[in-house]
Amino acid sequence: MSVYWNSRVEKLEPYVPGEQPRDGKFIKLNTNENPYPPSPRVIEAIRQAAGELLRLYPDPECTKLRRVIAEQYQVRPDQVFVGNGSDEVLAFAFAAFFGNGDAPLLFPDITYSFYPVYAGLWDAPFRRVPLAEDFRIAVKDYFVKSGGVIFPNPNAPTGIGMPVHEALEAAAFQGKDNRVVVVDEAYGAFAGKGPEKGMLGSLSAAPFINDYPNLLTVHTLSKMGALAGLRAGFAIGNEALIQGLCRVRDSFNSYPVDRLAQAGAAAAVADTAYYAGITRKVIATRERIRAALDRLGIEALPSDANFIFIRCPGKDGAVLADALREKGVLVRHFNKERIADFLRVSIGTDSEMDEFLRAVKEAVNGGTL
Ligand SMILES: *Cc1c(COP(=O)(O)O)cnc(C)c1O
Repeated sequence: MSVYWNSRVEKLEPYVPGEQPRDGKFIKLNTNENPYPPSPRVIEAIRQAAGELLRLYPDPECTKLRRVIAEQYQVRPDQVFVGNGSDEVLAFAFAAFFGNGDAPLLFPDITYSFYPVYAGLWDAPFRRVPLAEDFRIAVKDYFVKSGGVIFPNPNAPTGIGMPVHEALEAAAFQGKDNRVVVVDEAYGAFAGKGPEKGMLGSLSAAPFINDYPNLLTVHTLSKMGALAGLRAGFAIGNEALIQGLCRVRDSFNSYPVDRLAQAGAAAAVADTAYYAGITRKVIATRERIRAALDRLGIEALPSDANFIFIRCPGKDGAVLADALREKGVLVRHFNKERIADFLRVSIGTDSEMDEFLRAVKEAVNGGTL
């Protein structure tokens, strides 16, 4: 607390990001970054953009990048919004669409922990809707009057995906009251057996925006695009929703996406061959590790993402996370009801995951627990 803070800042409960260690001695499986490098074409595009023109402001409308996204995903450029990471796009969506009317915003009790933070920042009353026993989102629970709906598909940190028709049913129900449904598809590319619908993934609702004017899908290049360090995310939805996001952006920062990010992101979105390749590798590793954990008696929820959510019967999640840290492996533990026994483990390279398996075996059998 500080005497200098206003009451809005006093009340905030900020998000706590996963640890980014400054030395390279850890196998880093705690923030769902891609273990593979971005496309060489991305690096080349950034090199080209890193020149004299940096003295000029970037294109505030991200015209070229939006055109590339629109072409790739078969929508119109005016149905695309680009932001400084999808976290910014989500923050703008909360500001633009939620907090209206007399019913609360709905999101799952176990989900991306930034949602309650944004709701707090923008004063949007919200209600957490419990996941079913098997940690799936029960879409029928969202067929109620609301101030809007947001969920990730696949959900985080469970990794479980929802069939696209269910997401669309939620949009149809909420559309009757003109409530906005935001589907955060940060992990969409990793769904099922591999990339479909371009890099959107088989569960993506983005191809259906023309039928659901109240549906906004949100995407990031941080996970699939191996560009967490570049900060580029985007939304796909109808023009009125996109214009709402633009109004918030232009009331906050007209130039959130710099020249290097616009150039790099456009090259990434266009290089589907490269990204389909590394995405398939991550998916193959994910399934291999799930099977190996199963043989060790460690439960892993089904995953449509580039991470797995695991628990070891009778072992405390926080204790296991600490034991893995001692062995040089960082994973994410959430000290929250219902999931305190679980660890979220990002999928690394095959050799990183072999190290992870070795560390788990030692931690479970080696008497540290
Ligand atoms: C990682 C993540 C994001 C944020 O991605 P950025 O584009 O890096 O800001 C958004 N939503 C979910 C569910 C995520 O896991």
